[in-house]
Amino acid sequence: MRLRQVMSDVFLVEGIASNWTLLREGRDLTLVDAGYPKDVDGVVASVEQLGHRIEDIRGVLITHGHIDHVDAIPALQRLHPLPTYAGERELPMLRGERHEQATTWDVVSRCWRPRVAKWAVTIARAGAPAEVRLPDAQPTLTDGALDLPGSPVAVPCAGHTSGHTAYALPAAGIVVTGDALITGHPIVARSGPQLLPAFFSHDQDEANASLDALAAVDADTVLPGHGPVWHGSLLDAVDAARASGQR
Ligand SMILES: [Zn+2]
Repeated sequence: MRLRQVMSDVFLVEGIASNWTLLREGRDLTLVDAGYPKDVDGVVASVEQLGHRIEDIRGVLITHGHIDHVDAIPALQRLHPLPTYAGERELPMLRGERHEQATTWDVVSRCWRPRVAKWAVTIARAGAPAEVRLPDAQPTLTDGALDLPGSPVAVPCAGHTSGHTAYALPAAGIVVTGDALITGHPIVARSGPQLLPAFFSHDQDEANASLDALAAVDADTVLPGHGPVWHGSLLDAVDAARASGQR
């Protein structure tokens, strides 16, 4: 776990193979995503590094229901009950009624590529593949700021999954993009704003179209689901991601 303070009350944490974000407001926290099953100790450690406890988390926002972003949540909920929220169209996946995740075969069939093989070993150790089950997740409201620390605003951006949601922090000029726009991944050589390779996404055309929603966010800092913090114009980030999607 590596925690980076992006602003006074915004922290990006790099887990085993994905990121989560912590928003602080006084004694209260919002957690955005939570990593793989074996990231649970890392999530607890990141909260404690800020001088907080899991009990301080007022809610967990989910960008999307892929295991590398949500599978530590059930273990966290065993420590302390935590309300969870996700885009309305993501809820069937969190209930286990729909699957939109790259299969083991999608990964194995690409393991002739050294980067994919190395990453596959990392995620196998992280606890993948596993079933996502968060039946109690509630839909995020999309009209205005959510009543959670940091006052995040949900930005629906489907494509990577049907209910994928980014979270904007207007006062901080930050957007937490999940996997709708990333800035690096172990299986790709290039760094900077980009889409994930298409085999990870439910609908790459829709993911491309949803970049418009991110371009409309007034922010100059991107906290992605994979890769480092990125500073710059959102329009430039989206242009770069769009170009990556055409490769
Ligand atoms: Zn994903």
